[in-house]
Amino acid sequence: MIDSISPDAVLRAEHLARTYDEDAGRVEVLRDVSLSVHAHEMVAVVGASGSGKSTLLHVLGLLDEPDEGRLWIAGQSASGLDERRRSWLRNQSLGFVYQFHHLLPEFSALDNVAMPLIVRRCVRAQAREQAAAMLDQVGLSARATHFPGQLSGGERQRVALARALVTQPACVLADEPTGNLDRHTADAMFSLLVRVNQALGTAFVIVTHDPALAALAHRRFHMQAGRLAEAMPDESAPPASGE
Ligand code: ADP
Ligand code: MG
Repeated sequence: MIDSISPDAVLRAEHLARTYDEDAGRVEVLRDVSLSVHAHEMVAVVGASGSGKSTLLHVLGLLDEPDEGRLWIAGQSASGLDERRRSWLRNQSLGFVYQFHHLLPEFSALDNVAMPLIVRRCVRAQAREQAAAMLDQVGLSARATHFPGQLSGGERQRVALARALVTQPACVLADEPTGNLDRHTADAMFSLLVRVNQALGTAFVIVTHDPALAALAHRRFHMQAGRLAEAMPDESAPPASGE
């Protein structure tokens, strides 16, 4: 079996299935899901609540294992790896942004952003230097010493984005990163994602329930009852103007 993929695919999934066995019966959460994400690409996934979007991101992000199918991250097969190698591949190649920021409340914005580098055993001074540069990228240099409790919702998500980017991952997986923000702040956050995608070339897979934001992505997918289908260009929502 060929275990390599085209070099510009940062993520490739083939025929993924994920099933939960509950007392009430089997729940097929992912059904035959295939997806390729290329370097520099921004992909949006929309779908109703419960359609399997978070499960998909967890599988793509090596936080959950599929029951069937194969997965490659940054050209490496992620199937059948032991936990140590999975963690390594995750830390090397992927970043995450969640709906709720998941920042550590007792650490400053700077130290939260530096954390993935510290986990990598990067020298602390160097980690902080890179974290400061990434906070600058998201426009938050002035908040470096603030704690999460001292930041607004939008600022926390920008810190969470900087933390996801600080290891220079090939791909960032974002699960409703604007879902907890008001319209104006959500638009600003999404514009920032687009800017980062263009400036750093980081690929993004973004789950969003907001069609106007999904319309800004290069490609859109719909998740419905565990099946993923690419939306045709004319299915895209009109731009979010004239509000
Ligand atoms: P979405 O993010 O699109 O709202 P999820 O991926 O969170 O959807 O969930 C999809 C379906 O899988 C839901 O029906 C949910 O109840 C079920 N599910 C998710 N995680 C588990 C789990 N750990 N055990 C059992 N069922 C789960
Ligand atoms: Mg979800």
